[in-house]
Amino acid sequence: MGRITLNKVVKRFGEVEVIPPLDLTIEDGEFTVFVGPSGCGKSTLLRLIAGLEDVSSGDITIDGTPATDLPPAKRGLAMVFQSYALYPHMSVRKNIAFPMKMAGLSQEEQEARIKKAADALNLTDYLDRRPGQLSGGQRQRVAIGRAIVREPSAFLFDEPLSNLDAALRVGMRLEISELHERLKTTMIYVTHDQVEAMTMADKIVVLRAGHIEQVGSPLELYRNPRNLFVAGFIGSPK
Ligand code: ADP
Ligand code: MG
Repeated sequence: MGRITLNKVVKRFGEVEVIPPLDLTIEDGEFTVFVGPSGCGKSTLLRLIAGLEDVSSGDITIDGTPATDLPPAKRGLAMVFQSYALYPHMSVRKNIAFPMKMAGLSQEEQEARIKKAADALNLTDYLDRRPGQLSGGQRQRVAIGRAIVREPSAFLFDEPLSNLDAALRVGMRLEISELHERLKTTMIYVTHDQVEAMTMADKIVVLRAGHIEQVGSPLELYRNPRNLFVAGFIGSPK
């Protein structure tokens, strides 16, 4: 499960309408990328879905259930922050266990889920280290592990690789794509990087000043960009 719909969602900060009425459906299991220039509203849109911001009007449903008034913890979604959001004084194991502890899961269930996440992310040998003793890529994997153990109906990533150097980004991109293959869970991935969008997405949502310019598969957008903005942004020759 993990079908997300946005119906006429509007977000204003004071007088400024950052997201004009916006409709969007994200299908269960889809890897959707929100792409667009800095300041176009990608993070705001993700935060509205996560419940970290309230919509000004309109509504959001998750698997058919109205989510607009649900707090973040009740939405069944997991937001993956950049790796610096780890707790530096806790071991990897404790970092990963933290959301389960908050949710009151049994020790046994916590152990089982930690093992599963560590296997999926190649972290088994690092569970007793602290974040400071890990590489950037390993830290990012811990951040993802902390999301996996919640068994969310969707993962929300906000430019998760922007702190990593170019070589590491390529590897992490592959790892996230592989994770999607393996889990088949809905993922929404925000980036301003065209290459990430084109290589990772099932569906790309091109945003500009808070509205959707075009939605389609990478190939559809490449072959048939609606306008020069989309063409320029995804690098097609129109
Ligand atoms: P992106 O993630 O695409 O770079 P954001 O969603 O962060 O864009 O921002 C979209 C617009 O909303 C920007 O103009 C930004 O300045 C504005 N904005 C974002 N958060 C706030 C806030 N808390 N208060 C006021 N304006 C905000
Ligand atoms: Mg942003």
